[in-house]
Amino acid sequence: MNAIFRIFLLSALFLILSTGLFSQQVALTFDDAPRSDGALYTGLKRSEILIKKLKEYGIPQVAFFSNSINMDDVGTLRIKMYGQAGHIIGNHTHSHSRINDLGVEAYIQDIQKAHDVLQDLPGFHPWFRFPFLDEGKDESSRDQLRKALGEMGYLNGYVTIDNYDYYLEYMYQQAMKENKKINYDLLKDLYIEHIWESMQFYEEMGRKLLGRSPKHVLLLHENDLAALFLDDLISFIRGEGWEIISPVDAYKDPIAQQSPDVLMNNQGRIAALALEDGWKPQSLVQKSESEAYLKDYFARKKVFR
Ligand SMILES: [Zn+2]
Repeated sequence: MNAIFRIFLLSALFLILSTGLFSQQVALTFDDAPRSDGALYTGLKRSEILIKKLKEYGIPQVAFFSNSINMDDVGTLRIKMYGQAGHIIGNHTHSHSRINDLGVEAYIQDIQKAHDVLQDLPGFHPWFRFPFLDEGKDESSRDQLRKALGEMGYLNGYVTIDNYDYYLEYMYQQAMKENKKINYDLLKDLYIEHIWESMQFYEEMGRKLLGRSPKHVLLLHENDLAALFLDDLISFIRGEGWEIISPVDAYKDPIAQQSPDVLMNNQGRIAALALEDGWKPQSLVQKSESEAYLKDYFARKKVFR
């Protein structure tokens, strides 16, 4: 092979590698559905907007992890709407309690209670998302829960990309209640920026730990900010070369079969695997995953006046 041909081959390989043939993949998941009415949208309106935007942007399947305590008539209708639109309905316990507050036995009953409500709804999958991503503060509770979920035929609906979207929503709802003037352009930019920083952070962790880009699962919440900015977020993610995939596809990643032997799972599956691998706990959190940081950042940018 002559030198020029070799350079040509190397350039072609570089082009292929850099133009997204091996682009990163992420599935979208929304916790705490059906969440109550917000200051901007009623719960029903929010569900309609989310379904419409997902359809318009050609995303056939996301997952909604549900708390059955919120499933009154309208709440049940909303969960059915998601299922009928082709989305996945998962279990997020009945009451969204902490394991330590309820005790393991009652917590398992809380999972079963939600299961009884959700199991016959369209789109239901036996997937369980731990509230607060808390899988148990001691080995005994963690292992009892893993065993119980296994016996119920459940998959751990883990996330790989943790973030503080719930806190941004909290700040937004507070500002609305206080009748503050909202700069929606800034709010949108900061929402996307925070989620994108989280995506990059866990992608880099995944590459370092696994030597490859894992199929990601992004944690979002079924809140007003998601309804407001989902379309912009999707466009941004795609613009960065990432592909949005179904959660069914994401949970085919080999990391779905792993059960990290750690007690800290609240940063998601990749961070838990990194901790198990000996990484320092402080290396598993990025700077914007902090209420104080975000509060200060929003104040400096004057998002609410
Ligand atoms: Zn939750």
